[in-house]
Amino acid sequence: MNPETGFSGRLVVPTDPDWDEARVGRVFNGRRPDRQPDAVLMAADVDDVRRGVLLAKERGWTVAVRSGGHAWAAWSVRDGGLLIDLGRLDDISYDEETGIVSAGPATKGGEVLSPFLEERGRFFNGGHCPSVGIGGFLLQGGQGWNQRGWGWAAESVVAVDVVTADGELVHADERENTDLYWAARGAGPSFPGIVVRFHLRTRPIFGFLGHTVHGYELEDFAEVMSWLYEAHHRISTDVEIVAISTPVPLPDGTERRLFLVTGVAFSADRAEAQEALAPFNECPAIDRAVFVQDCRESSLAEHRAQQEIQNPEHAQYITDCAWIDGENTPEGIARMVEHIAPLFTTNPTHKGFAIWMSNAPMRRDLPDMAFSLQTEAYVASYTVYDDPADYQRNRDWLTSVMEHAQPVTAGQYLGDSDMTHRQLRFMAPENWERLQAVIASRDPEGRFHRYLARDADALNVNHWEIEKAGI
Ligand SMILES: Cc1cc2nc3c(=O)[nH]c(=O)nc-3n(C[C@H](O)[C@H](O)[C@H](O)COP(=O)(O)OP(=O)(O)OC[C@H]3O[C@@H](n4cnc5c(N)ncnc54)[C@H](O)[C@@H]3O)c2cc1C
Repeated sequence: MNPETGFSGRLVVPTDPDWDEARVGRVFNGRRPDRQPDAVLMAADVDDVRRGVLLAKERGWTVAVRSGGHAWAAWSVRDGGLLIDLGRLDDISYDEETGIVSAGPATKGGEVLSPFLEERGRFFNGGHCPSVGIGGFLLQGGQGWNQRGWGWAAESVVAVDVVTADGELVHADERENTDLYWAARGAGPSFPGIVVRFHLRTRPIFGFLGHTVHGYELEDFAEVMSWLYEAHHRISTDVEIVAISTPVPLPDGTERRLFLVTGVAFSADRAEAQEALAPFNECPAIDRAVFVQDCRESSLAEHRAQQEIQNPEHAQYITDCAWIDGENTPEGIARMVEHIAPLFTTNPTHKGFAIWMSNAPMRRDLPDMAFSLQTEAYVASYTVYDDPADYQRNRDWLTSVMEHAQPVTAGQYLGDSDMTHRQLRFMAPENWERLQAVIASRDPEGRFHRYLARDADALNVNHWEIEKAGI
């Protein structure tokens, strides 16, 4: 421990030569904010986290937290106060008897946790991008592998260890500190504490990963998307269904944007995967597909590599998302498809992409946890570019396509949102009320930063509802 600072890790201040590295070096999005904290603590262990909170209390500082640094809007970088960087809290242990894995919040879900579990014949439905930290991912709900079949990743959190606003270390699960356990599954970047360890339920690894991909021209978007809206309820819940608009390298050496319909079957064997993926071959536009890959054997490693290509590190990103809601009738589907189409067909950036993810059939009641807003389909749109001069053009485009989707939008998912630009509902109203009560009792002095938003008084409301009410 450094006797001057009292920390085993480093306390970095703005006059240090590596200040900017400590402030934003671990932020994934190359579009870094100018916001300036008073200090950054690169915590070495849980004791450092406790001492950091106590130091902040002594100095009257607010505390921000970083686990993996993947929040698109760099939520960890706030003006003023102490940023506690948990990057070194990434150790993992596994209990063979219970099948429960315990991991530090900076553990990279795909790159580290997934291979660790694979070696032990186990699987956790973590996030798709290998480098996302489990900390921010799980706190906001966690849209992990095959969420439509297995539920939100946060549903597999059995307990959390938390450093509270008083600098105490407590264990929270369904028997003790139940308010923190409830909030840790959905509060996202307004959790009133610092999670220093997650305890997660794992499942046996699947026997065969089947991957179907159809590539369609963008002019077939409406027909293919309408079919998918009608078909996704019927497809086995062992299959993750994602449609994506993205540039695709073609066998002739060229590359162009296509609309891909993909199914990943987590099955016992090839025959089961083939049966689960068979409905994709009923798409009425299949004869016009640029290419069809039917139930090819795949691996998690292959998907991780693909995600890294899709999400290049250090590029600049602007993202937004929406829970899409509408009637499951031909008219309702046509309306949803019309309102989301520009997200998929007009992205102004070469590397930009958009996803539509099935969450149907929503047959499960969510457990009692803070996360509480979902519909049968989720869309998210990403502009990806390198030149900061393109910012305004891309921002304007995203604003306009999300506005176009507004008539079929129920709210947003914290994971792809940026509330400094657009504030929507992300939690059921009753859960929102309950969360405010947990925050008031656990963090009465406001030690931890709340949601980074344009208007802190208009949180968890769709902005057009406020405008309509004339508030
Ligand atoms: C390339 C990429 C791919 C993604 N793919 C997915 C995906 O497949 N599914 C999905 O659901 N999301 C996905 N996301 C979104 C991602 O899950 C969120 O941005 C998440 O917040 C990242 O977690 P993190 O710990 O890496 O981020 P951080 O930026 O470190 O954390 C975000 C915020 O969460 C809070 N927080 C984090 N850790 C703690 C903690 N231990 N205790 C208390 N508060 C904490 C803090 O407020 C912090 O500022 C993706 C993001 C990127 C960049």
